[in-house]
Amino acid sequence: AVTVKGVTKRFGDTEVLQGIDLSVPTGATTCLIGPSGSGKSTLLRCIAFLEEATTGTILIHGDPLGFAEGPNGQRSRLSPQKIRAVRSRIGMVFQQFNLWPHMTALGNVCEALVTVRKMKRSEAEDLGMAQLSRVGLENRAGHYPSELSGGQQQRVAIARALALDPEILLFDEPTASLDPELTGEVLNVMRDLADSGMTLLVVTHEIGFAATVGRRIAFLDHGKLLLNGTPQELFGEPRHPRLGQFLETYL
Ligand code: ATP
Ligand code: MG
Repeated sequence: AVTVKGVTKRFGDTEVLQGIDLSVPTGATTCLIGPSGSGKSTLLRCIAFLEEATTGTILIHGDPLGFAEGPNGQRSRLSPQKIRAVRSRIGMVFQQFNLWPHMTALGNVCEALVTVRKMKRSEAEDLGMAQLSRVGLENRAGHYPSELSGGQQQRVAIARALALDPEILLFDEPTASLDPELTGEVLNVMRDLADSGMTLLVVTHEIGFAATVGRRIAFLDHGKLLLNGTPQELFGEPRHPRLGQFLETYL
């Protein structure tokens, strides 16, 4: 599990995350929902260590990420090696696919395997092809991003994250930049990953996906985790008024 304990994040005078406690169970999908500006991306970025929490700790299967907590609750920064080791167990997929435009689909999937993981190019390509077929794109391996639809580009980005064999995969609104007719193919790939028992944490406005694939739903509002429960608990009646208000704007 990923355990978030008392995480706050301040930008200047604004406390964007106000003490978040959240447990993301292993082998299941947790969906994070909430209004624009509530802090969803910031929380995800803290878990990916793209952003440093101002206070609090984050554990990946019990291993502290970035900071360790001492017996008196004081935090100390871990060594760069330790930070890198724990970070490498987390994958992330962004709203903007962030593919390298000068590399083919296969090149995008293989790049970190060769440069970061020091894998032989030929081995990396075998692994890359396997990941591309997992997202249904083995026949697009030689295409450049500009030759792929948005949905296909996002599936390449997912294959690239999977190639690094993460223990948990974070998604930040992976379908928000896509035309509606391309959203389904990406959600289907994510549904397959969920069915295969991967641990997913997904920020999404796709409430149908959250309700059917999410084992847990976390509702963030103004930097606070207002609700956290099963889809039945959150979406059934009686419904929390703030969540009701939020859902009305998306359904
Ligand atoms: P959206 O649904 O629009 O993506 P969100 O829930 O992901 O919203 P965040 O992007 O986490 O929200 O932003 C939360 C708050 O933190 C916002 O008020 C935002 O302006 C602020 N914020 C985010 N990043 C920074 C930054 N680097 N510097 C200053 N303020 C920031
Ligand atoms: Mg966001």
